[in-house]
Amino acid sequence: MLKYPVIQITCWAAFMALLAVNQWWTPVSIWLFLLVVGMYLGFTAWGAIFVNSNFYINVLCRADGGEKAVAISFDDGPAAGNTPQILSILQQHQVPAAFFCIGHRVEAHPDLLKRIYEEGHLIGNHSYSHHALFDLFPARKMANDLGKADAAIAAAIQVKPKLFRPPYGVTNPMLAKAIKENNYIPVGWSIRSMDTVQRDEKALLAKVTKNVRPGDIFLFHDTGAATAKILPGLIRYLREQGFAIRRIDQLLNVPAYA
Ligand SMILES: [Zn+2]
Repeated sequence: MLKYPVIQITCWAAFMALLAVNQWWTPVSIWLFLLVVGMYLGFTAWGAIFVNSNFYINVLCRADGGEKAVAISFDDGPAAGNTPQILSILQQHQVPAAFFCIGHRVEAHPDLLKRIYEEGHLIGNHSYSHHALFDLFPARKMANDLGKADAAIAAAIQVKPKLFRPPYGVTNPMLAKAIKENNYIPVGWSIRSMDTVQRDEKALLAKVTKNVRPGDIFLFHDTGAATAKILPGLIRYLREQGFAIRRIDQLLNVPAYA
């Protein structure tokens, strides 16, 4: 598996070798230099964008166990209108799920968080601010942001989440440091619904049921109406196909809370 330190060392070594070999800058050495810089930038961007790249940090994006099971997760809540609706559907079908909550929304709806928790779902940390520039925060600021989300969750349900999902699914060296400091288990997904942009229910259900494999983790958002609408259909489909629906910590065999 390609890792950030490997690329750092390789590009640095290539750069030093270029310096050592070329007394004078020639067109060839300039091209080679640009190639090394391009490679470095390309790999670091790829590692940041793809949550399952495991480039900066190991992110659990699916289960490798043999069981024919999947897990469903919701990000960005709790949201006043849609979260209760989703909870009722989950309860009706006896399906456990995971909710990666945003700290400031937890502060706004502590009773809703309590309901999610008491109905048997997992609560994960999804940052306090979910700031648009979160991925540019220095490590210390990120760690503080995550700690603030933990505090908001603990104030409502008296537990500290162990699982953390990166906002926007972006990872980088600062986040790797913040995650390590707080001792979180970073969790991603293997089936991205894109339900924040895909509002057409039929298309959304077709997209997420296209290629479901054992161990898959679904990413939804409990902030959109279409998600709640396709949920009964998705549960029905998964059960018809013989999939068990497990809570994410059980699927991945990791602790839920610290
Ligand atoms: Zn999010």
